[in-house]
Amino acid sequence: MAGVKRIVISEFMDLPAVESLRGEFEVDYAPALVDDRTGLLRRIATAHALIVRNRTQVDREVLAAAPHLRAIGRLGVGLDNIDVAACEAAGIAVFPATGANSLAVAEYVVATAMMLLRGAYLSSVEVAAGAWPRARLSQGRETAGRTLGLVGFGGIGRTTAKLAQAVGMQVLASDPVLAPDAPVGAAAGAARRELDALLAEVDVLSLHVPLTASTRGLVDAARLARMKPDAILINTSRGGVVDEAALADALRAGRLGGAALDVFEDEPLAAGSALAGAPNLILTPHIGGVTRESNERVSALIALRLGAFLNA
Ligand code: NAD
Repeated sequence: MAGVKRIVISEFMDLPAVESLRGEFEVDYAPALVDDRTGLLRRIATAHALIVRNRTQVDREVLAAAPHLRAIGRLGVGLDNIDVAACEAAGIAVFPATGANSLAVAEYVVATAMMLLRGAYLSSVEVAAGAWPRARLSQGRETAGRTLGLVGFGGIGRTTAKLAQAVGMQVLASDPVLAPDAPVGAAAGAARRELDALLAEVDVLSLHVPLTASTRGLVDAARLARMKPDAILINTSRGGVVDEAALADALRAGRLGGAALDVFEDEPLAAGSALAGAPNLILTPHIGGVTRESNERVSALIALRLGAFLNA
């Protein structure tokens, strides 16, 4: 197979997309490699391309172990697990699957907002045990007419705005990187706000920013305190954007109505974290962007872009 380019895939990928690459390249599909650093460093030595999700840390050590590496495909968006500057310096192209999982995240946000506003879905164990908490669960809120605040108004923020408007929500957006008068806000029917003003106005706050130096710790104890005491927080962006201990305190003290976290400072979340047992809290294992359909879209897009790049 001299001359055939070699691709290492270190996390799960949709199998038809893996097969499509096998037609032209030598493919080392090893989704367990993400948890086997030594194996990754060994197998990357002869690779021309690497495909990862969000858990494989592509740092200087990995790049140094991969002298033939020309491209990295990221099965998702958010490049915080990839040292993009070091890739640039080494002439390695990085391809994210921008847009291919936006709908999956947007549906997660709107569905979760509706669940937490209604407040009726966390009592199955009680009901099955013969309790009948009807009075307590009759205070749920309807979604229509509520205000959704989006922090980060890129691809996912805008798709979420569209779905939320379809169920009757008013949408506010904070994105200091977009010019205040950027037409995109008005076109999407979202009113722009500074972050601190937005926090005080919303019934549901949903975060859609990348993890960077300016977004780390963005939602801390002081910002949580600006929110209405019955507001809902949803974080599908990155752990590290929300102060987990401050959030757990706010939920326990009844200073926040509920929250859902799909992403965590450390993943997997360690047993016994401050979040364990906090009320009105939904935790999911970083699946906001991953559905059957988005997995197919994301994998097909990365196979196509990487294949074209390696063949160019
Ligand atoms: P995007 O690049 O299209 O949008 C990000 C937006 O955030 C941009 O408009 C940018 O201007 C804005 N932004 C940057 N810094 C900001 C700040 N300090 N305050 C407010 N806005 C700021 O990206 P996207 O496709 O919308 O994805 C957003 C993030 O969601 C990704 O970076 C990723 O971390 C996360 N994500 C998570 C999942 C999941 O499964 N949970 C899936 C996909 C994406």
